[in-house]
Amino acid sequence: MTTTTPAPATGPAPTNAPATTTGEEAARLDAEDALAPLRERFLLPQGVVYLDGNSLGPLPAAVPPVLADAVHRQWGTGLIRSWNAHGWWEAPLRVGDAVGRLIGAGPGQTVAGDSTSVQLFTALNAAAALRPDRPLLVTDPGHFPTDRYLADAVARVRGLQVRPVPPAGLEEFLAAEGDRVAVVSYSPVDFRTGELYDMRAVTDAAHRAGALVLWDLCHAAGAFPLDVDGLGVDLAVGCGYKFLSGGPGAPAFLYAARRHHEALETPLTGWTGHADPFAMAPGYTPAPGIARARVGTPPILSLLALEAALTAFDGVDLARVRAKSLSLTGFFLRCAEELLAPLGFEAVTPSDPARRGSQVALRHPHAYGLVQALAERGVIADMRAPDLLRFGVNALYTTHRDMLTAAVSLRDVVRTAAYDPAPQPSGRVV
Ligand SMILES: *Cc1c(COP(=O)(O)O)cnc(C)c1O
Repeated sequence: MTTTTPAPATGPAPTNAPATTTGEEAARLDAEDALAPLRERFLLPQGVVYLDGNSLGPLPAAVPPVLADAVHRQWGTGLIRSWNAHGWWEAPLRVGDAVGRLIGAGPGQTVAGDSTSVQLFTALNAAAALRPDRPLLVTDPGHFPTDRYLADAVARVRGLQVRPVPPAGLEEFLAAEGDRVAVVSYSPVDFRTGELYDMRAVTDAAHRAGALVLWDLCHAAGAFPLDVDGLGVDLAVGCGYKFLSGGPGAPAFLYAARRHHEALETPLTGWTGHADPFAMAPGYTPAPGIARARVGTPPILSLLALEAALTAFDGVDLARVRAKSLSLTGFFLRCAEELLAPLGFEAVTPSDPARRGSQVALRHPHAYGLVQALAERGVIADMRAPDLLRFGVNALYTTHRDMLTAAVSLRDVVRTAAYDPAPQPSGRVV
């Protein structure tokens, strides 16, 4: 399936030889990989190299039986009794705690449900309410669009102003205007370039200015160790369908540090966040704790799918996940340097491991057509307009061989001009 670059077929590499992006190196790295058995926890189609788990995680093996049981037995037979009998009612908090274990959140601070966009609306409003005398919301101009749109929306509703400040300029901005900032709303990983920012430095800088910090963990949760409690993060959100592999449109999550719970004001005061929802009271009284961030009737099938998906992390040390992810992306960067740079590809992801998330982005003017051609060869990546190809790795199932296959396939597509150079048509997902 894969051609390899020219290399000695046998025998040890000469000493001091530079690392070569050969099939042998991929095979050696994969053979040394203690996490390799985790791949069986996913139902990956044969013959596909899947490098888009940072957009939609693949199907975990634990999900289909859990969903079948939820549908046939719990829903089909249990009917409405299952709200109590099968813990449906508690699912948002139970699944929230399961996500919490992956982000360094102690129990009772994370709720699962709704979409990231809705959770951002809640979190940004809550942050503004916790810092009522501060008129500025700081967001990253490179932030994912929905994060920016919702910052604009919350600013409009609450009479605040948004300041787009890139992470590199945050210290300087806070030195000038820090005492007017309510919240700094960032992602630890740039979704386009894969650059990783220093969560501790940003969190501490926001706090020194008296501001809160809101982290969007969509590209971080499940990808590397996080310590929201330890860092003193105020609020965090993230989605369930990227590195957590909870399925298309999986419930998102919202974390709020316990110290903020008593004053936590949520903008969407739905009945399931009420202190006593079944009293059906005429007015809203928030539930104590993070339960007040519940909104409406939870999507049980999706929550149970996410809960099952999270068992793929059982017994897994996220520090090892991080180490392998860096090995995969580092190896791919070397493959790209050797095989793709001569063909006009530019790696935009930092080569410094401390500044690299769990994806590699390559710039090429024909990104869209190249990604389509790769998919035809069984290598699924994605692109972000206009010119970035993205290759996401998930250490739970990605192999070094996958990375080499992707690089070699891309080289072959370009060499043979086997792609359409037209730009991305609007309305297409990838
Ligand atoms: C994927 C992603 C989202 C997606 O938001 P949804 O409401 O779940 O569609 C939001 N923010 C960031 C940073 C993301 O990477």
